[in-house]
Amino acid sequence: MLTDRIRKCNQAPLRPGARYVLYRCSVNRRVEANHALTFVVELANHLGLPVLFYEQLGCEYPYASDRLHTFALQGSTETAARAARLGIGYALDLRWRRRSGDAGWRSALARAAALVVDDYPYGLIAQTEVAQYAVDSSCIVPMRTWDERAYAAYSLRPKMRRILDRFLRPVPALRVHHRFRVAVPEFHTPVLPAAIPELVGRCEIDHSVPPSAQFPGGRAEALRRLRRFLRSRLRRYARHKNDPAMHATSDLSPYLHGGYLSSLEVALAAQNYARENRLMADEFLEELIVRRELAFNFACHTELPHSLRVLPEWARATLQRHKRDRRDPAYAREQFDAGATDDDLWNATQRELRVRGKIHGYFRMYWGKKILEWSRTPEDALQTMIYLNDRYALDGQDPNSYANILWCFGLHDRPWPERPVYGTVRSMSRAGMERKTDVPAYLREIEALR
Ligand SMILES: Cc1cc2nc3c(=O)[nH]c(=O)nc-3n(C[C@H](O)[C@H](O)[C@H](O)COP(=O)(O)OP(=O)(O)OC[C@H]3O[C@@H](n4cnc5c(N)ncnc54)[C@H](O)[C@@H]3O)c2cc1C
Repeated sequence: MLTDRIRKCNQAPLRPGARYVLYRCSVNRRVEANHALTFVVELANHLGLPVLFYEQLGCEYPYASDRLHTFALQGSTETAARAARLGIGYALDLRWRRRSGDAGWRSALARAAALVVDDYPYGLIAQTEVAQYAVDSSCIVPMRTWDERAYAAYSLRPKMRRILDRFLRPVPALRVHHRFRVAVPEFHTPVLPAAIPELVGRCEIDHSVPPSAQFPGGRAEALRRLRRFLRSRLRRYARHKNDPAMHATSDLSPYLHGGYLSSLEVALAAQNYARENRLMADEFLEELIVRRELAFNFACHTELPHSLRVLPEWARATLQRHKRDRRDPAYAREQFDAGATDDDLWNATQRELRVRGKIHGYFRMYWGKKILEWSRTPEDALQTMIYLNDRYALDGQDPNSYANILWCFGLHDRPWPERPVYGTVRSMSRAGMERKTDVPAYLREIEALR
């Protein structure tokens, strides 16, 4: 239900004489399957106003780079066109420098009757003088449903199952009553795909992390990948999801993180496809719904998502007891970054991250576990993982990033037999990877990446 997703963020009134209702899109970069936009359109229809979809791309977000900027800009042309077809205005506020000032945003806000923003665990709700609402279009079961942190997947899963049907419903199509006919704001930067390298080149960001050739941004690309997953991968997912050589996973995480797709529409599509083709989608839905929303639950109820202090007591105690264990080998962050360890499998995972912008899920666990094993302290390991993942991954800086990085240290897990360095935190070994997956095929594939 839409009302379960909406929070009123202030007591400010609607602005009289305004030109439109403003949607500030910071996470869910899409026109379709977006509860926030559904709410904006309903509110605007009620007020007899059009809608303006405002997107800002500044240079000051963490690890701003050619890779992350390109992925964001590659969706802009399409979002503008999709919005225009429905009668919604679109404005991109592309800021060239770190201290560009907020003039565009202030002028967009000054003419708005009300502001609607994406509800997100790491989103800051700015003070405004107009009525402001936050809408959760990131989760299937709205993240604010849960008033406490779940201990692990097993404690969230049954509660979720009880109410899931209520939320597993398509988002209705948008019907705009008042088309946007106001002049497009003067700060808007139109984006032509061919001009993206030049636009990105002008921004004051890190130009040493290049765009990913494997993961272009945009909704059309996201939908293409979803169709490919359903047609040729879903039936093999449960059996082969841990082996990258089998290409059985969806590769949708950059598009879910970038907001080009909603997890709700992916879940519905997988469910329908499975029903029509007599397949099981349970394993995939477990990852997409339970695991992903466990990470949002963690993010909503954790003040310090970047700290080992949020680990369960048993994990903190065991890591502390093993803090002085000899690390052999031990590497510095620069060696990890350069993929210069003595383990060619680990180096390949890092190469996949640096070149593609994402590591296959099972090998990402190995990547994280080995950073824990080969860093001077668990704190160093955590900082290295966050740095590398946030900097290079197209799905980084997500609730999933920190919950899963901390999983490598015992979050949402249980104690395992005791070992050096790890203590009772679950470990992973090269021999295990070779037993369970086709390591030579993975090494060949990554070696061939340009
Ligand atoms: C150290 C480490 C760091 C990670 N960092 C990130 C990150 O920055 N961003 C990110 O989205 N995921 C992260 N993950 C979780 C997981 O590896 C990715 O979500 C998954 O590999 C994405 O690939 P896919 O889309 O092909 O997944 P699929 O297997 O096709 O799964 C479909 C979707 O389900 C969700 N999902 C899958 N596995 C998990 C999981 N373990 N936990 C939560 N949700 C899951 C994702 O949204 C994914 O796109 C990390 C895992 C580890 C071990």
